[in-house]
Amino acid sequence: ASQFAGQTLAVFGLGRTGISAALSLQAGGATVLAWDDRDEGRQAAEEKGVTLGDLETADWSKIDGLVLSPGVPHHLPKPHWSADLAKQAGVPIICDIEILAREVSAISENNRPKIIAITGTNGKSTTTALIGHILNECGKDAQIGGNIGRGVLDLDRIHSGSYLVIELSSYQLERTFSLRANAAVHLNLSPDHLDRHGDMVGYGGAKKRVFLNQTSEDSAVIGTDDEAGKALLCEMIARKSANVVPISARRSIGSGVFVLGGKLFCTQGKRVEEICDLGKAKALEGQHNWQNAAAAFAAVKSLGLKPRDIAKAILSFPGLSHRMETIGTAGKVRFVNDSKATNADAAQQALNSYDEIFWIAGGVAKEQGIEPLVPLMKNVKKAYLIGEASKSFKRTLTKAKVDHKVSGHLQMAVYCATRDALESGAANPIVLLSPACASFDQFANFEIRGDAFRQHSQQIIDLFEAEM
Ligand code: ADP
Repeated sequence: ASQFAGQTLAVFGLGRTGISAALSLQAGGATVLAWDDRDEGRQAAEEKGVTLGDLETADWSKIDGLVLSPGVPHHLPKPHWSADLAKQAGVPIICDIEILAREVSAISENNRPKIIAITGTNGKSTTTALIGHILNECGKDAQIGGNIGRGVLDLDRIHSGSYLVIELSSYQLERTFSLRANAAVHLNLSPDHLDRHGDMVGYGGAKKRVFLNQTSEDSAVIGTDDEAGKALLCEMIARKSANVVPISARRSIGSGVFVLGGKLFCTQGKRVEEICDLGKAKALEGQHNWQNAAAAFAAVKSLGLKPRDIAKAILSFPGLSHRMETIGTAGKVRFVNDSKATNADAAQQALNSYDEIFWIAGGVAKEQGIEPLVPLMKNVKKAYLIGEASKSFKRTLTKAKVDHKVSGHLQMAVYCATRDALESGAANPIVLLSPACASFDQFANFEIRGDAFRQHSQQIIDLFEAEM
């Protein structure tokens, strides 16, 4: 029986996460009332054995909690009706992470798996995957999940000696109360998803919940390269709960982990130890990845891993798809898939990392569009615009005097960019998909957009290889 045994839980949103939440609650002895506005959702859940219950007509005074899918909003401007009903009845709104957290806290301290939680605006998935890779390379039994890969309730049975490395979005953190991470990482904070959180205070407040319930035995790793991170560091030190480890990818810091000139350093007391040269890493190109590497190092070191073993694992990290992923080369042209860059801040990293860029951008623009990228456009030889954002991006590029054309579709953009790159005098041209936009005007998600880019690029690469 779980902590939810005997309770009644409403579950709204029957995608993969909602279904596993419902199943795991039922298995733990809870009564579940599950619902989705879509017929298909309800049908899929029912086929898997989930009990449905119409939440619109349910007696909310008998419900102990609402498990709300991360994608369904619960606050202004447009809370979902199920969230409104829960709030009126004073029912707490939780998510799958909270279910996991309560399951884990019910296990005796000696047998509990260790939890490493990662959040931030950008770099979460890379850091999560890197931490998972390091732990596994060092012989630990680690699984990654959460906002990346499998939902946390789909991870293999948790047991003592295992490590759960969990990527957390602000949406998940807002609905999490009992999490206690042995190591928690807050990478950075910049405006994204403000449409849903309303303001930076709300968004930042959600992210710092990653440090909830931590004690002096736990570590809080904090990226200090932005204003919000510096403020958070002060707050956490003042709070005196966890063991705080600041990190920086920009400057040396007195105590903590930092990267200078591509070299990773760790300071301990007065001693500064050089850990490794990130320039030798297989897949951690660019300064933003230095931050991810520093965070991963700090987190696993706090769990007791040896610096030398960690360094070796960092260098062999294979990287993630769709994040500045090199697909291959056709002649002198290199194709880089950064489809995951769904906002200007994320795209900034790629624009900063290469010199001769033939840049494919567009889709559904975020509020600031590509204005913040204008200072970096000196590296852009020409831009190729796709999707809904074309019109507004065209205005920005015209004003910034950056050569561009509206390509409409991704395939057209890849071919035009390759042609121009081949014809240009550039020595190392990069055809880069780093859209600074969401994908849903033309693709189901960023993965499918990246896969399409890979396929178009691969066709060109094959053409060149066939010739040789
Ligand atoms: P997330 O899971 O937070 O969205 P990812 O690790 O998937 O982050 O990286 C997404 C994109 O964000 C990358 O392609 C890169 O352009 C950018 N990025 C990665 N790490 C960082 C970082 N530490 N700071 C800023 N931008 C980053």
